[in-house]
Amino acid sequence: MSDLLSTNKSGWLGTSDEDRGAIYDFSRAYMDFITSSKTERLIVEHAEQIAREHGFRHIDEYGELHAGDKVLFNNRGKNLYLAVIGSKNIEEGLNIIGAHADSPRLDLKPQPLYQDGDFAFFNTHYYGGIKKYQWTTIPLAIHGVIVRADGETIQVHIGDDDNDPVFVISDLLPHLGRKQAQEKLTDAIKGEKLDVMVGNIPADDSDKQAIKENVMRILNNKYGITEDDFTSAELELVPAFKARSAGFDESLVAAYGQDDKVCVYASLRAMLEIENPERTAVCLFSDKEEIGSMGNTGMESHVFDTFISDLLNKLNVNRPNLLDKVFCNSRMLSADVDAGVDPLYAEVNDMTNSGLVGHGISLNKYTGSGGKYNASDANAEYVGFIKRLFRDNGVKYQFSELGKVDEGGGGTIAYILANKGVDVIDCGVPVISMHSPYEITSKFDIYEAYKGYRAFFRS
Ligand code: MN
Ligand code: MN
Repeated sequence: MSDLLSTNKSGWLGTSDEDRGAIYDFSRAYMDFITSSKTERLIVEHAEQIAREHGFRHIDEYGELHAGDKVLFNNRGKNLYLAVIGSKNIEEGLNIIGAHADSPRLDLKPQPLYQDGDFAFFNTHYYGGIKKYQWTTIPLAIHGVIVRADGETIQVHIGDDDNDPVFVISDLLPHLGRKQAQEKLTDAIKGEKLDVMVGNIPADDSDKQAIKENVMRILNNKYGITEDDFTSAELELVPAFKARSAGFDESLVAAYGQDDKVCVYASLRAMLEIENPERTAVCLFSDKEEIGSMGNTGMESHVFDTFISDLLNKLNVNRPNLLDKVFCNSRMLSADVDAGVDPLYAEVNDMTNSGLVGHGISLNKYTGSGGKYNASDANAEYVGFIKRLFRDNGVKYQFSELGKVDEGGGGTIAYILANKGVDVIDCGVPVISMHSPYEITSKFDIYEAYKGYRAFFRS
């Protein structure tokens, strides 16, 4: 075929045995990481640990900063910033990669424990855009914190160890589910029915609260908590599945929370390899992306600006408006996953503008919905720069839109940094069954994301 026309072949075609070895090794480490890091708190805790092992130190541990220094800032245990100071004047801008550490899940309500019939339940409120029916009849684990009346913060991690019990949300048996089956998919499982069973043994034969009482006794023995302590807790129900290779060729990763932990891991690994860059490299993992990036751990908060201001202070270069200027000269990859084409549901995609699984990292010039509404649309000049960068570094990339026009849409953190003046494009791994309890990605694409992010930090 002539060079005039674009082609988009499977990335696996060009790989040697050695390439495949590197791709599979990378994914093995990735799967270990996400199996043990299913919530934003665990991601931030483990990423900070790994960063410290690679020479990153908290910004408060530095009196002043110099080229080559590796800096970290942990925002309330749910949001992490990493930076490697460049040799060029920081006024020339930063190379930022931002992914998000939170994923769709079920949060416990402030007063979650109740008894109905012969069961004790935890009442939940779902977090992010889920298809509710997918969260019934699967094993769930609980992770999070409880702040007790005495001020102590208790860590809760139960359901992911093979010796732990798991938690399950029930669903109606098909034999008696005829009426339910007639309902719309969105209505068949109501949000208020996403309550998880937590006990069945009564403490005594006293009253209707005896099963709840027994659960509370167990929790009191284990964590020293009373029912009131739940109101100062953040407890998240997540699938108790391990990340696994999928397919006879083991080409795929099946795991919970790949949106957006796949980009967290790929950008973290890229960041760890950056030594003495020219432009200051910044890697950030934000929280609350799935519910609109609000709050003081979300990307909309000013904590990130404060971190960058602190870099300027400790470099002894700060002056009025310098932060704005730094942002205006900065470049960013918004490292977030893309909707991969699922051939079983191909009708929602424009096939010449869609992310194909196994074809490399996906670039989304814009997201938004309904006429690009609310989209950050990357400038053509910047897109051209990223294309040249990836081509020069042998990174396989493709361009996509999130579905056909008017089919739906989605958000990212891209617009938040773009509004500060940063050149931003969305750039991540295509995912199948996004926001489900068990999402699918290609090991090839994960590796290309890592290569792409590494090249970007070095640019
Ligand atoms: Mn995402
Ligand atoms: Mn998402």
